[in-house]
Amino acid sequence: MKFGRKFIAAAFLLLQFLPQSAPAFVLLPEPPASGFTMNLDLEPSVPFQSIGYGITTWNKLAEMAIATWNAAGIGSGPDFGFLRVANPPAVGNPCARDGINEVRWSPDNCGFSFGDVIAITIRWIVNGLRVEEDVLFNSNLPFDAYRGPLRYSNGHWLNDFHRVAVHEFGHVVGLDHPNAAGQKVTAIMNSHMSNVDWLQPDDIAGARAIAWSAASDPQLSSVTLIFNVGWNLAGNGSTGTLDAASAFGNSSDVLSVWKWLSVEAKWALYSPSLTRQQLANYANTNGHAVLTTINSGEGFWVNASRTFAARLPPGTAISSASFQSARAGGWRLVATGDNKTPRDIGSPYLSTLWAWDAVKAKWYFYAPSLDAKGGTYLSDYITSKGYLDFGTKTLDPTTGFWVNQP
Ligand SMILES: [Zn+2]
Repeated sequence: MKFGRKFIAAAFLLLQFLPQSAPAFVLLPEPPASGFTMNLDLEPSVPFQSIGYGITTWNKLAEMAIATWNAAGIGSGPDFGFLRVANPPAVGNPCARDGINEVRWSPDNCGFSFGDVIAITIRWIVNGLRVEEDVLFNSNLPFDAYRGPLRYSNGHWLNDFHRVAVHEFGHVVGLDHPNAAGQKVTAIMNSHMSNVDWLQPDDIAGARAIAWSAASDPQLSSVTLIFNVGWNLAGNGSTGTLDAASAFGNSSDVLSVWKWLSVEAKWALYSPSLTRQQLANYANTNGHAVLTTINSGEGFWVNASRTFAARLPPGTAISSASFQSARAGGWRLVATGDNKTPRDIGSPYLSTLWAWDAVKAKWYFYAPSLDAKGGTYLSDYITSKGYLDFGTKTLDPTTGFWVNQP
């Protein structure tokens, strides 16, 4: 096990007009072990009237900077959900490898003076992979938020928090300073803050070149679930447990989350807009149970008020054998991690199988008994009912589906 840390510093320099050239991005030598969930803890969290973005908070500005990199996409995939924001944020030690990726203000650089450094990103390396990233902003310096040319006020440069955050999160995703490697290119990743206030083509090319593929991660924790507005049927095909409050705790995204308890024959529900007590009261009054976790191999419904992404919990793919062997009869809402087609799962294990397409608002349907009749019997039936045909479509680890078992 090799542990390493490295400080990455940004310093001021007057704007230089650099010629456009071929991509000159520089990658950090160690690829990411996974996507990163950042804990934004930038006090004070009260809104302030920024110069350039209206009323906002440091945390909100950091979220914007994170969204900028996700929109660019990380890796050749590319992964548009590489960085996540923890909600609520966990509190850890930014100067230690503790499994918590901290983003916060600090008057010092882990016990050392910041000097004129604006912000640093500390990366932690295990077995040649970046496993944790902590970002510190120098609280001794004046900050505001604005686009365009750098401002000078009261004898100091006034830092634009947003562009500094975009730069630091560029280190988090895996980029280094092109100018420090002798390159001349317009990039927000140059080590000197300048009038460049947004991602440049070279920065995006760099992000896409990072050795990262969500699909090749043996852990499913990098697999992204996309939720559309309205009802979504999703699944936890990981061997890990999904914590409802961590994954769906943002009441701006989520109205409610439901799973079917087949043994008790009742629904369990979670809603981020209800307190624990309100949730318990509501569930009790309506004959429901309280949902706290989505267990391995379970499907679940999410009613979303806007499009958002979540990730599967750390773990490996659960085999479809798990629900085949646990046959209880009747309806079950399940998920599997091994990318089988419904036909692969086969007739001894199911009477019918259903998955919901949230975009088309239609059911995918499969029935082995109809498939066994051969020819186009099954597809004709599906067409006549207005369903969708699975065909060769597999049940991926994020798909939840109903099975009616014999
Ligand atoms: Zn830097």
